[in-house]
Amino acid sequence: MPSYAFFHKKFVPLASAKIGVMTHALHYGTALFEGIRGNWNSEQQQLYIFRLREHYKRLQKGCRLLKINLPHSVDELYRITVQLVEKCGFEEDIYIRPLAYKSSDALGVRLHNLEDDFLVFAIPWGRYLDMDAAKCCVSSWRRPDSNVIPPQSKITGLYINNALTKTEAMENGFDEGIMLTSDGYVSEGSGENIFLLINGQLVTPASYNSILMGITRDTVITLAQDELGIETIERPVDRGELYTADECFLTGTAAHLTPVAEIDHRQIGSGGIGEITGKLQKLYFDMIKGKIPKYLAWCTPVYKK
Ligand code: PMP
Repeated sequence: MPSYAFFHKKFVPLASAKIGVMTHALHYGTALFEGIRGNWNSEQQQLYIFRLREHYKRLQKGCRLLKINLPHSVDELYRITVQLVEKCGFEEDIYIRPLAYKSSDALGVRLHNLEDDFLVFAIPWGRYLDMDAAKCCVSSWRRPDSNVIPPQSKITGLYINNALTKTEAMENGFDEGIMLTSDGYVSEGSGENIFLLINGQLVTPASYNSILMGITRDTVITLAQDELGIETIERPVDRGELYTADECFLTGTAAHLTPVAEIDHRQIGSGGIGEITGKLQKLYFDMIKGKIPKYLAWCTPVYKK
């Protein structure tokens, strides 16, 4: 099935969307991306894009930071993306990658006096963390704080920190690395937020712990409260709490809700999928496929019936 991109304000085959070697963003990481999922519901023969508007709102905020003039409104981006995915015609789980970037053919480290552009493409993409329960380590790489590179935006240049973490973890035999903040509190995984279950309450690092304010994180906080009556406390989390939590899981658009089996060779809970984690995971997967009517406002159907 051919994929398409929206590139230079047109829909073109993905294979023909190319940028030049002098593009500013390629050299200095001066771009912002999003990761959005479309989830295939085979019974309904429908593809649902999850929380599309929220992803573009986050991109828009990041653009202010990087002084990128997004050439489209959030509503336009929403429509362009639905049109793009419809044109691709996928009947499986997909991943949508928007990129707002400094597009000038220009050298020199800066954010000002440069042209900006926006592109988006969609590709089929199944599981990201391809295991039932992940083995994690605490990374030797610290998460930069907001005075180094603001981690609240998906800045491409920032992701070298995540790539260092992921590769270190995998080369040491783990599935994912968990980064600490510069002052030693738990921050997040290389592509996921982290939750712990401690004494029946969910605990997750707060906005000021150098995290990306994940859309899946927000979704899970809502599901836990509204469907299971479980409150989430957002607060600094000590490293020691990671090893002694009753349950632990990671959340992210790519990773969905992935249970954590062990951290630094210490088993978490029973070492499998914890009871609350399992319940949340089921709710989450039903919801993103448009199976829970109450949450349909978060799911954009792509195909007209
Ligand atoms: N933290 C980082 C560093 C990420 O890259 C991601 C993936 N976007 C997340 C958290 C999870 O965010 P979301 O749930 O919005 O995908």
